[in-house]
Amino acid sequence: MATTSSEHIHCLIVGSGPAGYTAAIYAARAGLNPVMYQGLQPGGQLTITNDVENFPGYPDGVMGPAMMEDLKKQAERFGTDIRYGIATAVDFEAHPRRITIDEKLELTADTVIIATGASARWLGLPSEQRLNGSGVSACAVCDGFFYRGKDVAIVGAGDTAAEEATYLANLCSKVYMIVRKGEMKASKIMQKRVLDNPKIEVLWHTVTDEILGEHVVEAVRVKNVLEGTTRELAIEGFFVAIGHDPNSKIFQPYLHHDDQGYLKTLPGTSKTNVDGVFACGDVQDFTYRQAVTAAGTGCMAALDAERYLAALGD
Ligand SMILES: Cc1cc2nc3c(=O)[nH]c(=O)nc-3n(C[C@H](O)[C@H](O)[C@H](O)COP(=O)(O)OP(=O)(O)OC[C@H]3O[C@@H](n4cnc5c(N)ncnc54)[C@H](O)[C@@H]3O)c2cc1C
Repeated sequence: MATTSSEHIHCLIVGSGPAGYTAAIYAARAGLNPVMYQGLQPGGQLTITNDVENFPGYPDGVMGPAMMEDLKKQAERFGTDIRYGIATAVDFEAHPRRITIDEKLELTADTVIIATGASARWLGLPSEQRLNGSGVSACAVCDGFFYRGKDVAIVGAGDTAAEEATYLANLCSKVYMIVRKGEMKASKIMQKRVLDNPKIEVLWHTVTDEILGEHVVEAVRVKNVLEGTTRELAIEGFFVAIGHDPNSKIFQPYLHHDDQGYLKTLPGTSKTNVDGVFACGDVQDFTYRQAVTAAGTGCMAALDAERYLAALGD
């Protein structure tokens, strides 16, 4: 496709979740004239959740979309230029760095802050989509608290699923862990924690057939794949822990990343292996994946970008 060129940007921010907006607030207040491209999901992952109770500054909690609107307003107040558009290609060997938006608009940038997040993987059931935010969640640390003293189920067999099952068992009365095979991928130590926990019942050789409930989750129908039998379990929360996909594909040819695609940053900084390119938020964070940690690293990225530009004499 023919491209149109070319605008030069001092500080380009790719992504509009908590990391991107925090980077924008700091970059704008530092006079870097940031331009942000919001991507397919303006406001990021929190726009698909309801109550956020663990972001500091909201003593009564806040709805995810409202919180992201607040962050947007704060970034706009200091002059961030917020635009619709998706970064579809980059050339990080070029000087200045080149970025293509929506396959047609060519930009160059002195600094690029990547804040593209990581998307949770879902099972793909229509009931999962329908009840998302109404009992279905992809984040036990975020939403487990809402199911204190209740029965829940979690799907997954890796380290994250095992860790989240153990986390839920501290809060909930019963945790069903749905595992497709007769074994888990989780490390031995994590498996032991799950298997030794009296509140967790592992359902081996089992898949999710359907999540049941009209307006909120009321039960899950599971199927034993060896026997072909189904049964219903009364639950109020259904957690999907089958992994995340960092949104880093277009950057991977240039930037160091792990085998799952999480971008690598120099420890204690947001710097990538390419000068002037910084990464923040979930796209570089396999471990914590929280709004407040994303915001914290967004701040780091803006400060690192500012210092980089200052050292260049800009
Ligand atoms: C259901 C659910 C509930 C959650 N609840 C909580 C909670 O209560 N508390 C909490 O702290 N955390 C919660 N989280 C986790 C939290 O949402 C994430 O940790 C946080 O949003 C990560 O922020 P981020 O800025 O790194 O990325 P994201 O919020 O994922 O935002 C990524 C942004 O990048 C954009 N983007 C992606 N690719 C491109 C591209 N090529 N070009 C341009 N833009 C692009 C997207 O459009 C999006 O705007 C929850 C997550 C989920 C899924």
